[in-house]
Amino acid sequence: MDRQKFTKAYGRYTKRENTADMFKEFDATQLYCPRCKQAVPVRKRLLLVLPEGDKYEYLCAFCLETVGTKMDRNGAQNSIIV
Ligand SMILES: [Zn+2]
Repeated sequence: MDRQKFTKAYGRYTKRENTADMFKEFDATQLYCPRCKQAVPVRKRLLLVLPEGDKYEYLCAFCLETVGTKMDRNGAQNSIIV
């Protein structure tokens, strides 16, 4: 039987799944929090939906202080078409 081969393949698959999960959870890299006075993991929160894009806010995972915002622009391509 090639049980060993199967286990190997399965192990590799699981590893890749875990990596994907990690990227989903830690969308942004760590940012500096002025209240914690250190780089902290952040939570992404949708702040505003505007015609030119979505505005996200990054919150400190520990104290929920806003540590940054990000604009995901999706209107750039539309303006080219118009
Ligand atoms: Zn903080």
